[in-house]
Amino acid sequence: MKKNVRRLIVILLALAMLFSILLPALSILASASSSSGSDEVTEEEIDALESELAEAQRRRIAAQQELNAIRGDLSRAQQAVDLAQQQLLLTEQSIDTTKHLIQSLGIQIQQTKADIVAKEGEIAQTQEDLKQTQNRLDNITLRIDTAQRRLAELVQQEKDQTQAYYDHVRWLEETGPMTYIAILLQSGSFSELLDQTMVIGNAMNYTNDILDRLEDTQMEMSITEANLEEDKEEQVEVQAQQEEQLATEQQQKQDLEAQQKQLETDTANQQQYQKDLEAQRLQYIADRDEAQKLLEEIAATESAYAQEAAALAAEEANIQQALTTAEQKYQEQLAMLQNTGDWYWPLPGKYSLSSLFGGRYLFGYWDSHTGTDIPAPAGTEIHAAQGGVVSYVSSNYYSSYGWYCMISHGNGYVTLYAHQRVKPIVTEGQVVNKGDVIGYVGTTGNSTGNHLHFELRLNGTRADILQLFPNTTFYMNGVSWKGNQYPAGLSN
Ligand SMILES: [Zn+2]
Repeated sequence: MKKNVRRLIVILLALAMLFSILLPALSILASASSSSGSDEVTEEEIDALESELAEAQRRRIAAQQELNAIRGDLSRAQQAVDLAQQQLLLTEQSIDTTKHLIQSLGIQIQQTKADIVAKEGEIAQTQEDLKQTQNRLDNITLRIDTAQRRLAELVQQEKDQTQAYYDHVRWLEETGPMTYIAILLQSGSFSELLDQTMVIGNAMNYTNDILDRLEDTQMEMSITEANLEEDKEEQVEVQAQQEEQLATEQQQKQDLEAQQKQLETDTANQQQYQKDLEAQRLQYIADRDEAQKLLEEIAATESAYAQEAAALAAEEANIQQALTTAEQKYQEQLAMLQNTGDWYWPLPGKYSLSSLFGGRYLFGYWDSHTGTDIPAPAGTEIHAAQGGVVSYVSSNYYSSYGWYCMISHGNGYVTLYAHQRVKPIVTEGQVVNKGDVIGYVGTTGNSTGNHLHFELRLNGTRADILQLFPNTTFYMNGVSWKGNQYPAGLSN
């Protein structure tokens, strides 16, 4: 709000300043137009126009300086707009990047969730495997128990058998070898003896047999037990592996969950960042619009100032034009004042001409001769052909005319004196009387020898100067004539 008020004041001040510059200009223009009534131009009028021009120039320069200052403001305002626009674009790019990042994070979260589900499947499978392993272990343990019990039974049986065998042997020992022999002797016959012996031997053999088989079974059971123990060890190892695998998988699941949490945190952060960027974007848009508004206001002011500067420049040009016209008119008046009517030959006594006005061959080429050539020795004085004002003096001798000058005689008559030996001795604006010495004959510029190239301009167009000397007799190529009444067959 405050800023807008300040801006309005600045614009109003600028307009007031512009008006203060314009007002005197308008009044001077009005007075200038009112004073242009009479036909004659006076030196005072020219002086007045010159001071008006100086004033107009001062105003135009002041307006131009104001305009330049405003253009500086305009350029800075444009830079501010560009900067805000650039910041806006960068922020929008950041928003895009952040959106893509959030999208990518979302995909990663989905992937991680899928990984967690897969991991949970793996864990369930491993738990199932563990359960089976446990079952196998239980089964093996049961079988080991059974085998151990059986082995204990066998050991007991062997003990019992061994005891029985020992009892029998002790009995035999207690009864002594004689008893054994007595049994043999009690036998009624040899065959009975043989039978008795066999019975005893068989009983011994039988006992030995049982013991042998017990040992075999015991051995087998030991092997079975050892195998079972081996199986058990194996299963315990499997169980340990599976438990380790389960722990690893649970750790991996935890890691995945942590990763998911991290991704969700990252997403939240990025969403917050995006929010911040959106806010920043709105701020940059506001900044840019503000700068754009200021730019437009300054541009409007600039346009008004440019129009006024142009108006002042046009006004200055008008005054300049009026001054030029007045000066020309004044010069013309001055020249006419000097004009005595009849014309004076610039080289008295030199009437033999070398080239006339119009077409001629020069150096083998057709040339339209712009003046009349009068041969004369170098240094011969050149006289003004009529009173007037020197309207031009060459500043060097590099042109085809060499050193030369022009005299305005009023009524649109201008004479030109070319190929002078040195710089003409008159100066621009100098008033000369008819017959005054203005310079010296020479051969500077495009010249084939010392001569005066004498030229007439009538209302800006080249014309034959000899028409101004109707009563003077001229000579060329052995013939003579008066003025421009050239005899037939005279070749230039
Ligand atoms: Zn010439």
